[in-house]
Amino acid sequence: MSDVRTTRTLFSAPPHEHRRVLVLGAGIAGLVAAGELRAHGYDVTVLEARQRVGGRVHTMRLPGSELAAEMGAMRIPHDHRRTVALCGELGLTLLPFASGSVGTRESISRSGVDARSSGLAGWERSRDVWSRWERTVEDVRRDWFRLSRRQFIDRWDRLSIRGFLRSRGWSEQAIEEYGIVTFTESTLGTSVLQEFRETFSSAYETAYRIDGGMDLLPRGLADRLRDCVLLGHEVEQIVDGVDGIEVATRTAAGQVVFRADLVVCTLPFPVLRTVDLVGSFSPGKRRAVRQLHYDAATKVYLQLRRPTWRREVGPAGGAVSTAAPIRRTQYPALDHLGADRHLLLASYTWGQDALQWAALSENERMRLATRDLEQAHPGVSAEVEGSISHAWSADRYAMGAYALGEPGQTRDLLDDAVRPEGRIVFAGEHCSHLPAWIEGAVESAHDAVAMILPRRPAGARASWL
Ligand SMILES: Cc1cc2nc3c(=O)[nH]c(=O)nc-3n(C[C@H](O)[C@H](O)[C@H](O)COP(=O)(O)OP(=O)(O)OC[C@H]3O[C@@H](n4cnc5c(N)ncnc54)[C@H](O)[C@@H]3O)c2cc1C
Repeated sequence: MSDVRTTRTLFSAPPHEHRRVLVLGAGIAGLVAAGELRAHGYDVTVLEARQRVGGRVHTMRLPGSELAAEMGAMRIPHDHRRTVALCGELGLTLLPFASGSVGTRESISRSGVDARSSGLAGWERSRDVWSRWERTVEDVRRDWFRLSRRQFIDRWDRLSIRGFLRSRGWSEQAIEEYGIVTFTESTLGTSVLQEFRETFSSAYETAYRIDGGMDLLPRGLADRLRDCVLLGHEVEQIVDGVDGIEVATRTAAGQVVFRADLVVCTLPFPVLRTVDLVGSFSPGKRRAVRQLHYDAATKVYLQLRRPTWRREVGPAGGAVSTAAPIRRTQYPALDHLGADRHLLLASYTWGQDALQWAALSENERMRLATRDLEQAHPGVSAEVEGSISHAWSADRYAMGAYALGEPGQTRDLLDDAVRPEGRIVFAGEHCSHLPAWIEGAVESAHDAVAMILPRRPAGARASWL
């Protein structure tokens, strides 16, 4: 559905114009926008609050080990062409991601959703969750390939996942099963649009991970930008004036004020609300910043001595869902069988599940994840040595996992979210048609750059400069 532009010019096009641009945030959107603008001759400075680049692409490694815990993005769907192309340009190796679902039914029956069929409608009884879904979305799939993106959004952004399934005659029991099997029980109230995007683009079928860790992508991009990324600069104020724009940052050494002709703002909207904005933001923009719904996500990794789970799961790895608090366990492919330590994504949660995990201490997260894992793999608790976890809702520089719209929000808020204000252009996954993916962040950066470049590709909206 999307119009993919080549990234071949990234960092290599000859400069033809010198204007000062401040890019706020060194996540994927900020780094890609900065690279493209530098390639076009702009004088770019990237201001990043953390002491690392990558934002929500965040890999943590065990000291002295190759084992990586992906706290944010962990997979790249095969058809995310911009992201795959970036990895190719940086010479990164893509390995298969263990996307398959293993042991789902067993974990469900163990965790309380019994095999009763009395609550199921007649047509649901002979089908599993996946074939019920496939049957239900046949006409939507036709729309996906037939309608323009705008028409598709207008038609299908009105309903939540739950509302859509109800409108198609699903019983409450079948909806409950769908929520558990697809990990969406805590996000059934969000727009069904994301569910369609991911189903029809086969996002979960074939995916890759980056050999060595996902953070090699942002770190590779930042290396190409060399000295123009300033870490430890927390943006506190943006003043959009008549003669230019000023951005004040807080650093360990005190406040620093930067002046520029343009700003590319990639800060997640919940964070942007905490920044002091001086200038005339339109009511539509202010509403989008306030209202756009961000989901929560929490990941808990357990460090184990031996991968005892391979008895039940097998060496290929994959995902298991359950109604228990851990919700989803993502088993890695066992490349390191001889290793003396292993990292397992024991619990990956969204929505209110993730908020509940966010309320727990690290020790409590380890205890609860171990308890639930023990149900599936008796004896595994004896192997647990420690845990590392991250709750994105409590992350000061994200304040949420990603933009996952409520029904109608893509239709009603996205244009306002993207629209430039004065000298500020907006980018980030929340300003794209693929929110919650690296691909969306890259797409939004390309779109932002297209708005800024004097010779804009057809379709770019940029008469504001
Ligand atoms: C748990 C989780 C799992 C995910 N899984 C996947 C996946 O498997 N595959 C996939 O493709 N995508 C996945 N994503 C989504 C993907 O990580 C994001 O869409 C993408 O990384 C967002 O990039 P961005 O540049 O828009 O935002 P960010 O990465 O958030 O970049 C914004 C930057 O701004 C900085 N910042 C914030 N406040 C300030 C401030 N005041 N001053 C200066 N700097 C500031 C932040 O530190 C950050 O570096 C996942 C995300 C999460 C949270």
